[in-house]
Amino acid sequence: MTATLRLPPRSRARALEGHPWVFANELREPPPAALAGESCALRDARGHFLGSGIANPASAIAWRRFSRELRDFDAEFLHDALAAAVARRAPEPVRRLVWSESDDLPGLVVDQYEDLLVAQAATVAVDRRAGAVEEILGELLAPAEIVWRNDAPARGREGLPLGVATRSGKPAEPRWLRVGDVELWLDAMAGHKTGLYLDQRLEYARVAALAAGRRVLDAFCYGGGFALHCARAGAASVLALDSSEAAVGAAARAAERNGLAGAVELRAVNVFDYFTAEREARFDLVVLDPPPFARSKGALERALRGYKEIHLRALQRLDPGGILATYACSHHVGRDALLGVIGSAAQDARRSVRVLEVCAQPPDHPILPGMPESEYLRGFVLSVE
Ligand code: SAH
Repeated sequence: MTATLRLPPRSRARALEGHPWVFANELREPPPAALAGESCALRDARGHFLGSGIANPASAIAWRRFSRELRDFDAEFLHDALAAAVARRAPEPVRRLVWSESDDLPGLVVDQYEDLLVAQAATVAVDRRAGAVEEILGELLAPAEIVWRNDAPARGREGLPLGVATRSGKPAEPRWLRVGDVELWLDAMAGHKTGLYLDQRLEYARVAALAAGRRVLDAFCYGGGFALHCARAGAASVLALDSSEAAVGAAARAAERNGLAGAVELRAVNVFDYFTAEREARFDLVVLDPPPFARSKGALERALRGYKEIHLRALQRLDPGGILATYACSHHVGRDALLGVIGSAAQDARRSVRVLEVCAQPPDHPILPGMPESEYLRGFVLSVE
């Protein structure tokens, strides 16, 4: 590795404190265009080595660390990092295998759905090495198929084209996938993210454990993970809502497949409209798992108003003795912000709310202590009186 990027004197870049990113405006001089996708050393103004990273002069994030040592982002490194990522995870058939900076592979995500791997390349460096990644994954895991879901908007910010492809060149057919106590409909080519919200899979059992005999509302249900687990656990009734027709269709098929069609009512509707229209509806357990209303810091204030609104509506429809399970999946909405919104909604609704359980992203989405952006999913299970 020959290229070096430097921080200016008196830099206050977070990389000096261990953050794995350097923004273009934090560098002494902009990286030359030829460094796109290449390995670069980062040094401070005095020449102290800070790590090896991948560069992208076209991105706001000009450098992303992949090693604290002097290494090249070559096939040997990829092999080491991928093998380490697999080794640090529990041997489950359905799991996140690789999560970007948290696995020293900036821009690479790989989810495992039994013998199917679904990958995303969100940096130029990973995109260029997709062939090597495919080969190494094949060697380590012998998957039947690898799907590249390269249609996430993050690729646009790196100057990469959007598209979906498979290793075999043939489309991957949607299929059933066992997740916890139910089978869900996995469409790896067109579903949200890599097909499922894998990061919530451990929460299904947590919430289902509280569902027996309760009237349940799963407000942002996608493929029905929470709804079906609650029905399976003996909920008195389950109503599941999602604004996406495709999601509701998949959840309906899954209800049928699991023998729970009579136990789950599904509606394709905007949750805000539902709450406005159905003022008399009452529940004993409400799950709120909305999309990230705040995708940027700037959008935070509006997002918090949205979060407060749905919490207020949910609290108004919970009978005393009820349970609220609520999640926020944006790193901009921190634990305190979410708790603040819940407290303020409880105040407006004049309800007494207590935290029963604190929830977080599962361990196969590891949080890096030096990288706040890696912590993005929080939740609470609350009692409502
Ligand atoms: N709980 C789900 C994941 C939910 S992701 C699971 O575990 O699989 C958020 C979902 O909210 C998406 O499916 C999206 O289609 C839906 N959504 C977004 N905005 C919505 C709205 N205003 N009303 C209803 N659903 C909405």
